[in-house]
Amino acid sequence: MPDPGTEQSCLFCRIVAGEIPATIVASDDSCIAFRDITPQAPLHVLVVPRLHLPDVAALAARAPGVLADVVALASKVAASEADGQFRLIFNTGARSGQSVFHVHAHVIGGAELGWSPA
Ligand code: 5GP
Ligand code: ZN
Repeated sequence: MPDPGTEQSCLFCRIVAGEIPATIVASDDSCIAFRDITPQAPLHVLVVPRLHLPDVAALAARAPGVLADVVALASKVAASEADGQFRLIFNTGARSGQSVFHVHAHVIGGAELGWSPA
């Protein structure tokens, strides 16, 4: 029986549960951070709340403290894996590029970043 707040069909719930392998670089009671399988920068880590919610808007509405936890873990990962500077991206909705509907922050860094998001 899955925990409340997890979904058996959700890829990131299954990574959180340890059912699908990932390269985990940090974790706490609230979130895990693991390397993106298709990195777009020298540092490209996903910070994923353990709680299943579809996107950052739902997270902000339902569990704003967990959103703060996401930012704190992203900052910690950027400090340990790069120079502490980072870009945080929450794709929200399919047209924005969201493909996994379990809220996650892309932590991007480790290089001088360009700016052409569209
Ligand atoms: P989105 O497109 O939803 O903003 O981001 C989903 C991200 O998850 C993509 O950057 C994609 O490369 C990554 N991803 C998809 N499947 C896996 C997987 O099985 N393992 C890992 N580590 N990353 C994945
Ligand atoms: Zn999920």
